[in-house]
Amino acid sequence: MMLRLSIGALLAASAWAQQDPAVERPRLVVLCAVDQLASWVFEEGRPFFAADGGFQRLMEQGAEFGKCAYQHACTETGPGHATIGTGVPASVHGIVRNAWWSAQQGKPDGRLVYCVNEPMPALPDLPEGKDRGPGLLRAPTFASSLKKGVKGSKVASVSWKDRSAILMAGPDADAVVWIEATTGNLVTNTAWAKTTPAWVTRFNEERAIDGFFGSVWDRSGPEAAYAGLVDDRRHEVAHQNGTNQHTLPQPITGGKLEPAPAYYLQLFASPQGNTVVRLAAEAAVGGMELGADATTDLLCVSFSSTDVVGHVFGPDSVEARDALLKLDRELALFFGFLDGVVGAGRWALFLTADHGVGPTPEAAKAAGRDAGRGLLQTGARNAAEQELTKRFGKPPEGKHFFTHVGEFSFYFDQDVLAALRGERDAAAMLLEASRVAAEAAASARGIGAAFATQDLLAPGKEHDALRASLVLALYPGRAGDVQLVVKPYWLDGASPASHGTPHAYDKEVVAFAIGPGVRAGARIGDAITPGFGAVWFAQMLGLPRAAAVVDTVPQSLLGGK
Ligand SMILES: [Zn+2]
Repeated sequence: MMLRLSIGALLAASAWAQQDPAVERPRLVVLCAVDQLASWVFEEGRPFFAADGGFQRLMEQGAEFGKCAYQHACTETGPGHATIGTGVPASVHGIVRNAWWSAQQGKPDGRLVYCVNEPMPALPDLPEGKDRGPGLLRAPTFASSLKKGVKGSKVASVSWKDRSAILMAGPDADAVVWIEATTGNLVTNTAWAKTTPAWVTRFNEERAIDGFFGSVWDRSGPEAAYAGLVDDRRHEVAHQNGTNQHTLPQPITGGKLEPAPAYYLQLFASPQGNTVVRLAAEAAVGGMELGADATTDLLCVSFSSTDVVGHVFGPDSVEARDALLKLDRELALFFGFLDGVVGAGRWALFLTADHGVGPTPEAAKAAGRDAGRGLLQTGARNAAEQELTKRFGKPPEGKHFFTHVGEFSFYFDQDVLAALRGERDAAAMLLEASRVAAEAAASARGIGAAFATQDLLAPGKEHDALRASLVLALYPGRAGDVQLVVKPYWLDGASPASHGTPHAYDKEVVAFAIGPGVRAGARIGDAITPGFGAVWFAQMLGLPRAAAVVDTVPQSLLGGK
């Protein structure tokens, strides 16, 4: 795999497109993520975007990429934002899932490691921001490269989700902020600041987040935008304000009389959550004077609420369609703000998503597809354990073959394998057991394929696209022994909809570029990954190209004023 990457890098270097020196460098570059914005979801919403909305502006004044997809199979928030921030897949940046089983592999005392967990003292006035950091990220971010290469540059990263803000920017940013639902505060910690930045304190004191208390989430688009969508579906999660309804309109209160954690959580699952993120991003630009002079600064911003809405109501819901239309408006306001503060033509932006999403299985079924849901990983585990017992015998009393099953993988208990391995050596036993488990799991309900991790990593193997995407999601010490892939349109667990698979609906996402030098209205057919923004900005600013990045800047993107 490393070999393939380095050949890719060589090819990339030869096709190195140069930025027109006559085009002025932007004062601010923006990496913008919309959480869960799958290409197919965007296409279904496209006819209904506002003429003066953000997407129309991106299409007219910027360039749209028709083929943007993740290479890695682990289509989740942590891995996606890390790719957006670094330009490389999960096998290089090491963020293989939102959480993974700890490196105590094979030991029963392992634990689930959250991708941005790091022992980190809180700031005294923001105790809820403690123990978050970028320490598990294994690749340098574009932000770090900018801080190193452009003297005086400033970097801020803003999102509702901690992992999104942290992994897009990394350790060297001047400010990384996210929202904690326990207090509704915008928080950071000592990983980035000795004291709370004044603009963060001001933002929290002004309580912009509480300004949406009691506001009503209602349809905002034309009637045609919701045609064919059913609002009241049993498999949706109810709006969390005590009404127990699945329909719009709904007041955003969390079922409380005043702002409380339940309110912040309902806000998170509503389009207004994205408004809060926009206001926070604007506070960062203003408070840190980003883009105020000729030294290029970076803003990372990720709109999280589209993801939550997609999970709890489904991407095929009235709520998700409306959240997308409201985001379109939000982006227009944000771009207008940047025009006013930084100056029109003085900022550049790359917009993409951290992953896509599958339709709710119910909607997929109604469309005639083979689809379903259930405890698919549990079923796979049972099938594997049965077959392993048949082949190798029962595990010792009180023991199980696996120490952990989750994140679409099995982790063996090495002590159990040792007890049952007979004449085989440990490596041969692990490989044989992994293959037996994979074969049995692959025939379980809703499971499409399963592989022994060792087979995926065997050197010199030519992989098909599915296996290659799984290899790009593996990182030493953070991978299980067997990798599971659910069938397309099959969903593990009870949430109405989700992502995390190597299927097209999870990997293919939107991508737009806008800024000085970009050919307005261009539609780019070249395949890119969501790491493109980091590569494009580095090239634009004459910063070194990171070793493992795969994207190149197509000549067809440039040539504008
Ligand atoms: Zn999600």
